[in-house]
Amino acid sequence: MGLAWENWSGSLRFRPYHLSLPASESEVLWLVQKALRHRRRLRPVGASHTSMPLYSTDDTLVSLEKMSGVIHHDEKASTARCLPGTTMLTLGKELLDRKLSPINLGDVALQQIAGAIGTGTHGTGMKIGNLSTMLVGGRLVTGKGEVLSFSENDSELLKAMRVSLGMLGIFTELKLKLLPLYRLRRREWFTTFFSLTNHLDDLCLHNRNFDFYWYPRSDEVKIRTLNFPDEGKMNVPGAKLDEDWEDWAQNILHKHTKLKNRFDEMEYDVPFAEGPSCFLKIRERILSRWRRSVCWRLLYRTIEADDSYLSPATGRRSVSISLHQNAGLPYEEYFRDIEPILLSHGGRPHWAKKHTLKKEDLKKLYPAWDKFFDLRRKLDPEGLFLNPYLEELR
Ligand SMILES: Cc1cc2nc3c(=O)[nH]c(=O)nc-3n(C[C@H](O)[C@H](O)[C@H](O)COP(=O)(O)OP(=O)(O)OC[C@H]3O[C@@H](n4cnc5c(N)ncnc54)[C@H](O)[C@@H]3O)c2cc1C
Repeated sequence: MGLAWENWSGSLRFRPYHLSLPASESEVLWLVQKALRHRRRLRPVGASHTSMPLYSTDDTLVSLEKMSGVIHHDEKASTARCLPGTTMLTLGKELLDRKLSPINLGDVALQQIAGAIGTGTHGTGMKIGNLSTMLVGGRLVTGKGEVLSFSENDSELLKAMRVSLGMLGIFTELKLKLLPLYRLRRREWFTTFFSLTNHLDDLCLHNRNFDFYWYPRSDEVKIRTLNFPDEGKMNVPGAKLDEDWEDWAQNILHKHTKLKNRFDEMEYDVPFAEGPSCFLKIRERILSRWRRSVCWRLLYRTIEADDSYLSPATGRRSVSISLHQNAGLPYEEYFRDIEPILLSHGGRPHWAKKHTLKKEDLKKLYPAWDKFFDLRRKLDPEGLFLNPYLEELR
């Protein structure tokens, strides 16, 4: 029967036959070699925040939670090597002692570093890449039962590793590019949607990190900015300042450590220039069809372009638009109604969040799709790291 496993929102459920909790690279290697001998399959899992079946398996689930912490740092080069199961919260704390800070974080810091990097998790900031771009080297146990060590010099390999959905192997160590310890000031304002639209370009351009939440029921907006102290927008015309505080970057980049309510989410990245018109269409559709049944906010963020093969921001600066629905409530019809709007603006789905695209659709969105899957075949010729969902993608 196996053990019952579910993701953070509860919308993804499966029963792995076995759960392995390796505590070292040699234990991961032993697991992979054993699986190869017995023709078994493995799926690595982080903090299970992903709601697509990337780690679902009825075979062996490999949790890296025992492999946590920063194991080496170089203050001068602003880099650190850490273990795959280190949560972003732990990473931030351990970097503080080492006088280093992450370049960016997402809205929560509960993900494990290998999981966050594996799906192209991002924060906001039009000149800041997603978290995967912080990966500059590491160690991976491949499907051939070997340890592959890679560095800044392996540029093509890095482009594949950075967003690899746990398809190339199991990370046992990740080397991250960071920044010297720095402070940020967070300011949040409330305003109307109409007022926001007059200042959107300005807000994107003149803040290190900027995003906004739109609340369908009230048609109000919460603007959030993060800047180096004494830089960025000090006020937003027509908006009411709600929060204003300053802290070390790792304590303030993520907003939530505990969320009161759980939710399911769909998110797409569209080209930066498409963001405003795409959002306007979605707003119109929600106001006309979904306002009564959906009370959750929508989130608008920006992400710098990168060159990772499977990154939703590959080759283009992007805007991400995400929709939420309370966990346990039906989300399918709502998401399915909005998804074509996102696609018509050139959207690429977040790998970790709900979407309905299949291989044929996805392949068209990623110019380096074949390069990624050629490498996958080389690193995992037996398909040890595949599950039924990933089988369909390859
Ligand atoms: C409350 C919440 C807030 C979120 N906020 C944001 C946000 O602000 N920005 C954003 O972009 N996304 C966000 N997400 C999505 C989230 O960042 C991703 O789902 C992320 O992948 C979760 O990390 P995890 O540790 O839970 O990994 P999991 O979801 O457990 O796994 C993700 C992927 O990583 C692989 N993996 C895990 N460990 C390893 C390893 N050691 N080696 C190789 N592969 C591995 C898994 O196989 C899987 O493919 C959020 C999700 C939730 C539920």
